[in-house]
Amino acid sequence: AAKKQGRDRHLLFHDQLRQNLLERLSLLEDLRSACVEQAFTLVYQPQWSLKQKCWIGAEVLLRWHHPERGPVSPELFIPLAEREGLIESITEFVFERALYELSNHPEANTALDNLSLNLSYPVLTNETVMNRLFATLTAHDKNRPNIIMEITETAAMENLNDTLGAMKQWQSRGVTFSIDDFGTGYSSLARLKQLPLTELKIDRSFIQDIPGDSNDVVLTRAILAMAQTLSLSVVAEGVETEEQAQFLQSHGCDVLQGYWLGHPVPIEQLKTVLAKDVSV
Ligand code: C2E
Ligand code: MG
Ligand code: MG
Ligand code: MG
Repeated sequence: AAKKQGRDRHLLFHDQLRQNLLERLSLLEDLRSACVEQAFTLVYQPQWSLKQKCWIGAEVLLRWHHPERGPVSPELFIPLAEREGLIESITEFVFERALYELSNHPEANTALDNLSLNLSYPVLTNETVMNRLFATLTAHDKNRPNIIMEITETAAMENLNDTLGAMKQWQSRGVTFSIDDFGTGYSSLARLKQLPLTELKIDRSFIQDIPGDSNDVVLTRAILAMAQTLSLSVVAEGVETEEQAQFLQSHGCDVLQGYWLGHPVPIEQLKTVLAKDVSV
């Protein structure tokens, strides 16, 4: 009986693996056709400047509404797109679409000094794609916000020489850089300092439990102090409560982003969000 049970369990395990693999394959297949059909949309999450007391920018976030599954999280499909060589065309779509949408929504466009876009490592270091993205930016040079590229800490540190070379090229065309999800990647300050950065975004896992969690309080204060020494602007991600906002304000944080200030919304709704005032 024990033997049979073991075999059943083994079969169950095998079935599950098979199921997972099939899932992944079908998701990949659907992602490929979504790329061809450009079945993605964009949302914009506003950022509030504590220093200037106004909305200062927005981050562009990608959305994929699957015909059967419904919305699929970017946390799931972006890594897949990166692994399967789809992120390049997706990023081109995001750039073109965002700048096109802004040019069609002048109220939102003029209200934003900055537009933040997420850049994956394979895209950052791909010269062909980079040139196409440059061309898109140039086509909109007359009337667009400043572009801030967000790269994650781990991506930035992947291969410091390649990253640095690519960043310098982007920089020469007026783009600035931000480190996304800061605090999650264990990178040393000395190494980060070699990169031409203007901004750090504190990962929302640190923000989540302040001011209650004393570890997170200490870490957040240390990041803020360190960023100040390096003259980096700090954006706090995932701000969900007034207490968090007040804590960040009183410790010198520059910019807030999170549900408490505004959810990511389609461009048509951005005007309404930007018309609201925030008091921290
Ligand atoms: P991220 O760049 O760190 O973006 C912030 C994420 O936090 C977004 O998740 C946003 O919706 C979510 N968020 C914002 N405020 C709050 C809050 O107050 N509470 C909570 N719990 N969450 C909040 P989203 O849109 O699911 O995106 C996840 C990640 O996928 C992004 O993290 C980014 O790394 C990646 N991603 C999204 N769009 C793109 C894109 O166009 N290109 C690339 N390469 N990556 C993208
Ligand atoms: Mg980001
Ligand atoms: Mg982030
Ligand atoms: Mg993230």
